[in-house]
Amino acid sequence: MVIGMALRCPIVSVLGHVDHGKTSLLDRIRKTRVTKREAGGITQHIGASEIPTDTIKRISKDLLGMLKADLTIPGILVIDTPGHEAFTSLRKRGGALADIAILVVDINEGFKPQTVEAVNILKQNRTPFIVAANKLDLIPGWNSVEGPFVLNFNEKKQHPNALTEFEIKLYENVIKPLNELGFEADLFTRVKDITKTVSIVPVSAVTGEGIPDLLVMLAGLAQKFLEQNLKLDVEGPAKGTVLEVKEERGLGKTIDAIIYDGVAKQGHYLVVGNPTGVVVSRIKALLKPKPLDEMRDPRDKFKPVKEVAAASGLKISAPDLDTVIAGSPLRIVPKNKIEEAKKEIMEEIEETAIPTDDEGIIIKADTMGSLEALANELRKKNVQIKKAEVGDVSKKDIIEASSYGQSNPLNGVVIAFNTKILPDAKTEMEKSDVKVFEGNIIYKLVEDYEVWSKEMEELMKSDEFNKLTKPAILRILPNCIFRKSKPAICGVEIVYGTLRVGSQIMSEDGKRLGYVKEIKNKQQENIKEAKVGMQVPISIEGNIMLGKHAKENDILYVEVPENEVRKLLHEYMDELRGDEKEALERYVELKRKLENNMFWGI
Ligand code: GDP
Repeated sequence: MVIGMALRCPIVSVLGHVDHGKTSLLDRIRKTRVTKREAGGITQHIGASEIPTDTIKRISKDLLGMLKADLTIPGILVIDTPGHEAFTSLRKRGGALADIAILVVDINEGFKPQTVEAVNILKQNRTPFIVAANKLDLIPGWNSVEGPFVLNFNEKKQHPNALTEFEIKLYENVIKPLNELGFEADLFTRVKDITKTVSIVPVSAVTGEGIPDLLVMLAGLAQKFLEQNLKLDVEGPAKGTVLEVKEERGLGKTIDAIIYDGVAKQGHYLVVGNPTGVVVSRIKALLKPKPLDEMRDPRDKFKPVKEVAAASGLKISAPDLDTVIAGSPLRIVPKNKIEEAKKEIMEEIEETAIPTDDEGIIIKADTMGSLEALANELRKKNVQIKKAEVGDVSKKDIIEASSYGQSNPLNGVVIAFNTKILPDAKTEMEKSDVKVFEGNIIYKLVEDYEVWSKEMEELMKSDEFNKLTKPAILRILPNCIFRKSKPAICGVEIVYGTLRVGSQIMSEDGKRLGYVKEIKNKQQENIKEAKVGMQVPISIEGNIMLGKHAKENDILYVEVPENEVRKLLHEYMDELRGDEKEALERYVELKRKLENNMFWGI
């Protein structure tokens, strides 16, 4: 081992669909204890729990052989906040803060939208993961007991029907959906290479079955996959990520942070990013939670420490933390390293800045990580983003979105993930056409936006289609010339297409005769259009002189401008009725002949 380097604990995050048992599983892991007389147990950190390797080894003696290697990492640090919002908002340079993840899937319910979303997020971040197939105790007939799953998974302990049921659910609800998402997966006892196949560990957060197996597999996976990434620089400054900014009684604003590299020292300086730049603040205290037995007064929850090495959860008390937000990068450095750290933090912030487009929508989110996750999901659907910002939705956002919507209504949109809409923004929304989507599930927001934008597109398209001139071919009926000119009035039959008021009329030799001023029905009422087969009196305003320019039984055409012909031919053929298509095709044919241009309308 290099001098000054050691292996640190891998950081573990828990993801999965709502109600599949993430919180229960974390609680169960936190309660993991060895017998009272033996040393070692779970150490509570701020925002995380550490399970030392000694503890893992003791509770899972029977399983260590499976790893075919000794555990050399000091333990694992599990982040207490589950869910992919936490996962995505906790970042470090180059990716997710968590080194590995537990994907919780209810073995009885199988994959749900958020399970798929979690897998996609893990894939995107290249985070190795293990599946905890939870609620094993709910498999009909399963006899679930605390302790290793491997000792409980045999014909002596389980009824054959329960074993069959288990295998079916394991395959249908966990292995198959993982395969469909591009992952090889199997029950962990059958996995030969944990770097190639996703290990599935059946557990019950209620009975505690499988927890030892889960911890061993996590430790093994981290060690095998990440040994290089887990090298800790024990002499370097602490690098970390803000978990939460919290008001504490007697301390004011404090930061809860996860330190993933280096050593934090009391008396050093905190250098931390905020939405507009970098804050430097002299650290008053580094705090860790007091063990329960040392806590005399419940308000007195923390104890100051001199130094803390990664990986670790830590509370930092320092002035000027008001503008700091969750997910920001931080360093803890001596005075002479402040400038260097500031530069690093700025670079890190710039690296995570989300690229924006010249045109597009506005997105807002509560943290940098969730903003990035939202932007990624939208990009996958080819949605353009004009502005991406952390923070609440403001009046300014609505005014800006409204101006983006002027040129393209699809851009008059704000998508807000896990943030508030400020009161003056709400007032502004009432005055404008801006569409705001708010919520706390990314895939749902993206889906809602997609549904809305499809509807809008349809609406815009049908609006455009309705404005296009409809093709029609007419015949002047015999004995039906009622007035020769100004306006000319005659009876016509619509041979093909739809004749509308306002359309220009052309004779078969290409002469423009005038526009349709009125169409009447049998009751002599004005109507806007007449369809194929109808015989109606119409008036034509223009230079037409009936009897001279057009006679009984003559064929007349509605003149459709060339640019509209193009639109009809290329975009709206499916919208036209058969006879309208016929009218259009005959009209195009005539135009090409008259203009001696075989490409007219193309
Ligand atoms: P989360 O939303 O993923 O954090 O899920 P929770 O941990 O809140 O669990 C949702 C529900 O499932 C709660 O009622 C839990 O008691 C229950 N639950 C969680 N794990 C298990 C388990 O292993 N077995 C059984 N029977 N119920 C469980």
